[in-house]
Amino acid sequence: MVSKRIQKALEGNSAIRAMFNEGREMAAKYGEENVFDFSLGNPATPAPKALNDAIRDLLDEADAKGAAGSLGIHGYMANAGYEEVRQAIAENLNERFGTKFTAHNLVMTVGAAGGLNIIFKTILDPDDEVIVFAPFFGEYRQYAANFDAKIVIVQPNLETFQPDLADLEAKITARTKALIVNTPNNPTGVIYKPQTMEQIGAILEKKQAEFGTDIYLISDEPYRELVYDGNKEDFLTKYYRNTLVGYSFSKSLSLPGERIGYVVVPDEAADAEELIRGIEISNRTLGFVNAPSLIQKAVARCLEEKTDVTFYDENRSRLYDGLTKLGFTCIKPEGAFYLWVKSPVENEEEFVDEGKKFNLLMVKGSAFGCPGFVRLAYCVSHETVEHSLPAFAKLAAVYGLEK
Ligand code: PLP
Repeated sequence: MVSKRIQKALEGNSAIRAMFNEGREMAAKYGEENVFDFSLGNPATPAPKALNDAIRDLLDEADAKGAAGSLGIHGYMANAGYEEVRQAIAENLNERFGTKFTAHNLVMTVGAAGGLNIIFKTILDPDDEVIVFAPFFGEYRQYAANFDAKIVIVQPNLETFQPDLADLEAKITARTKALIVNTPNNPTGVIYKPQTMEQIGAILEKKQAEFGTDIYLISDEPYRELVYDGNKEDFLTKYYRNTLVGYSFSKSLSLPGERIGYVVVPDEAADAEELIRGIEISNRTLGFVNAPSLIQKAVARCLEEKTDVTFYDENRSRLYDGLTKLGFTCIKPEGAFYLWVKSPVENEEEFVDEGKKFNLLMVKGSAFGCPGFVRLAYCVSHETVEHSLPAFAKLAAVYGLEK
């Protein structure tokens, strides 16, 4: 008999994962090239060659040193990760964003998911509240539930998909422990501009003073480098003192299966020392122990590497132009690799089901706390995008959308 907690989780099992599995089944039935699977954020661009070379070099170097070398590369280390890896990342961040971190401010994590869970375990008591901006990465619900905390949803502006800051202000209570921001955003692709971040910082400062509490801003930033149209990569610690950063190399270096990321706790954050120690302990006691060793060292050698943003940019333009020409209403993404499309019917699940008839796999907006829309992950091949357009044309015809 599974636990009550897992019974609940089974009921709300990830729509994205379910769709991905369905896609695999459809591909087996109709052929890979005839299924247009926009369900999962699995990057289509390969990891940089330098990353694979780094892994090979690390193994060769370890072998050359003999057994002790091998133990060195595959062994346990401090729960926070290798000191030299954290120092290299800290210096890279300092150079790019004018920060002043050292290895001490960083903990290497099992992806962004691992990072968010260890932050949550460190700061959340049962019934604490974590605010999220709809639409949001649906897994935040599960991560909060892991620690018996509550997700509180702030509504977006339905035209721009920027957060409604008046709603944010109204929803902060004495139990608010954290606000998660994810920019560039999954699922909308919007970027929160510096002015918005300054306003969010000011609201949090005001509410901390009002309630006499610490409210952490958690910046979940797997898409930091995936920006288009001349938008700049941003680093949010400058807008608000109590900002914690959760980063992942999953998308920026196309390494989602390797499970590697990091958390940054700036010195100026409230109770920074305790937070860092708590996050290290949480990394161990949640069973991650430490981030995977080989890939830690490999990413540290590839901090200057970039994924092929142009590749995603081409998909973005083709899909956005193609769908808007067909009469669909879409938010033009400024970053990440998702397109947020308005469902032509109120219940977007009907729209998702209709899409499946044309082998189009889209994820319902309610999975992101925002019904009435669907998400397309365009981190797929150019061919998939190109060949999907006739299928979208047929779908548009069902709703009489063609212009
Ligand atoms: N946060 C957001 C917004 C994401 O989109 C994802 C993955 O898609 C994650 C966190 C989890 O990332 P990771 O695979 O690094 O755990």
